Amino acid sequence: MAARGLAMQNVNKDFGDVHAVRDLTLEIEEGEFLVLVGPSGCGKTTALRMIAGLEEPTSGSIFIGERDVTDVQPRDRDIAMVFQSYALYPHMTVFDNLAFGLKQRKTPQHEREARVAEAAKMLDIEHLLKRRPKELSGGQRQRVALGRAIVRRPKAFLMDEPLSNLDAQLRLHTRAEIARLHRQLGTTIVYVTHDQVEAMTLGTRIAVMKDGLLQQLDTPKRLYDAPANTFVAGFIGSPAMNLLHGWLTRTGEGIVFHSADTSFLLDGEAAGRATTDEVTLGLRPEHFERRPGSQRQGGISGEVILLELLGSDLFATIRHGAGQLTARLDPSADVSFGETITLVPQPQHALLFDRATGVLL
Ligand code: ATP
Repeated sequence: MAARGLAMQNVNKDFGDVHAVRDLTLEIEEGEFLVLVGPSGCGKTTALRMIAGLEEPTSGSIFIGERDVTDVQPRDRDIAMVFQSYALYPHMTVFDNLAFGLKQRKTPQHEREARVAEAAKMLDIEHLLKRRPKELSGGQRQRVALGRAIVRRPKAFLMDEPLSNLDAQLRLHTRAEIARLHRQLGTTIVYVTHDQVEAMTLGTRIAVMKDGLLQQLDTPKRLYDAPANTFVAGFIGSPAMNLLHGWLTRTGEGIVFHSADTSFLLDGEAAGRATTDEVTLGLRPEHFERRPGSQRQGGISGEVILLELLGSDLFATIRHGAGQLTARLDPSADVSFGETITLVPQPQHALLFDRATGVLL
């Protein structure tokens, strides 16, 4: 088993009546890129700030490597943080911004210079070392902020929405850059974002949180293919997984799913495992076939109320008896707004959740 990068054990954080983080346990391997993701207010920043030592847990323990750092000062935790705001010193040059932390830690000058040069090369900011932050673009400032963390050679990087101040194109570019730095440095990273695409593209594993509670900790692929509950199913993936409330009946042919305006035979293992007949069925947009015209056996018919062409994909949303459904269609499909179409589910891909608890069956 790989060495431990860091860990949170049964960590709680209350702010008065608000339980910001509830009984959070995370084991992160050395070199892992763990993303904490969830909607606004789910407790991800508070969790990260507790790892950094900027917030004290109400209960529980925090480890960096094998060392219990729960009562250790932030500066002695051997971590480096990168925030959404770059927090650069405006009156200092880029070089001095990069070297500042090392100087404070009394790193010898030649070592400081070598480390700054190395980080500047890695980030392609060597030509900017004499400038001050106000003479840099947003993207360049964020690279300096990353550089300042890199020169420290910490045991772990903690990143809180580091891309959210950048415009869309720069965000993609810097995201790729962070992934490359992680490969190059091999240092443990804990990264907070509310953006599931960022989480899916960066994380070796992702912790999905809601209301202070960890919902699922898994690889991007597992989160997508087998979300632990309907919250994760709806949060990961864009457009979101379609969720249909219904019930199961058992016939001679097999297990049949029924909802207000459709019924079809299930042929996956999930149906056999189902411990309740009151279910929510989940199907990703790519797991439908489109048929022209209205209701055919086993299909769901409805009027097209939204068409989104993204070049390689065409997403069509229909309104049907029990709600809305979004399906991914061939971009060359001949479909128009207001038309009635039928979407036929691919039952082998259907996931079943307990309708009462939302938990994957
Ligand atoms: P966002 O993406 O909006 O930053 P988040 O998931 O990072 O959200 P947190 O900032 O960790 O969420 O906040 C979790 C909960 O704790 C929220 O309800 C928030 O209002 C509350 N909270 C956070 N910090 C404090 C504080 N210093 N005092 C009181 N309540 C706080």
